[in-house]
Amino acid sequence: MKKIIFSFAIVAIAFVACQQNSDEVVPNQEAAQIDMSDFYVHTNVDASKASSDAKNDKCQSMSVLNRQLKENPSLENRMFAIEKHTRTFIAGKKPSGNPGGGNNGGGGDPPPPTGYTGTITIPVVVNVLEDANHPVTQAHINSQIAILNADFNNNNPGTSAIPAEFASLVADADVTFVLDAVNRKASSKTSWGTNDAMKLSSQGGIDATDPANFLNIWVCEIGGGILGYAQFPGGSLATDGVVIGSDFLGENTAGGQYGHGRTATHEVGHWLNLRHIWGDGRCRQDDFVADTPSSDAPNYGCPSYPTVNCKSNDMTMNYMDYVYDDCMYMFSNGQNDRMRAIFASGGSRESFVQ
Ligand SMILES: [Zn+2]
Repeated sequence: MKKIIFSFAIVAIAFVACQQNSDEVVPNQEAAQIDMSDFYVHTNVDASKASSDAKNDKCQSMSVLNRQLKENPSLENRMFAIEKHTRTFIAGKKPSGNPGGGNNGGGGDPPPPTGYTGTITIPVVVNVLEDANHPVTQAHINSQIAILNADFNNNNPGTSAIPAEFASLVADADVTFVLDAVNRKASSKTSWGTNDAMKLSSQGGIDATDPANFLNIWVCEIGGGILGYAQFPGGSLATDGVVIGSDFLGENTAGGQYGHGRTATHEVGHWLNLRHIWGDGRCRQDDFVADTPSSDAPNYGCPSYPTVNCKSNDMTMNYMDYVYDDCMYMFSNGQNDRMRAIFASGGSRESFVQ
């Protein structure tokens, strides 16, 4: 019996050694398999903003990213690493190339990062820079949390209008947002801009609360007709979170067509590593999502279906477009994969699920 156990031990050691050897080789093989050739971080949004089209001001996330890249060149490397991790995670989810079906079966492709299944719970801290002319009430805040929960759990009533072409692509992201705290600070500032001053007490704002474990939402008068902006994964922790204009938080009549809480849904999409659905460039510049059609510009208002650009029908009802709040009502499965990836092992927001 001992002899048999000993033999097993030898085999086990040999197996482990073999595994270790193969692990040493795997990263290079994996690197070769992940195509990063289309990755980009810099965009021309600043140039388009200079045009007479004021509607470009809706979301400033890409122009803020351009600024942060200029201030901190290493950000590009961090975002590249996050994107590579994301693509590795998504590639691992595909059944092809892994005949055994399991991540570790049959000596096929290397195992992808371990995913996080089930509901992801995000505690939220709302930081309000109060402007008496643009009040932000507890009711606005509560309705915003409810809208985020509807949108990230596929409970937006608008989904009943999704065209058959996109019906099978609608994702239930299964992310739950829970309001943890509201911080308020009176301010006479009526135009905060997009330089992150609202996120720093040293500049009159409110410091972030533990950004590795809380989604911070700053609410203030941004100015310039801007609805909001977000910081992508990879940026500085001190400024991590999203900023929403006072009139556009939750159900708010002052926000008009943008007064139904979807600015936050869009910005939290960026915070979870989603790009604009048209890819912030021409037809060939992608949003890194396979199941969203190519497009060359944002859509505005409430487009009719089909809206054709780049020889395909735009998914205008996607939260990552620029349409009116009531005209956006879906994330796609491919977008959901990207969001899940950052909570997977080694993901940039893994701390939220640990
Ligand atoms: Zn945006």
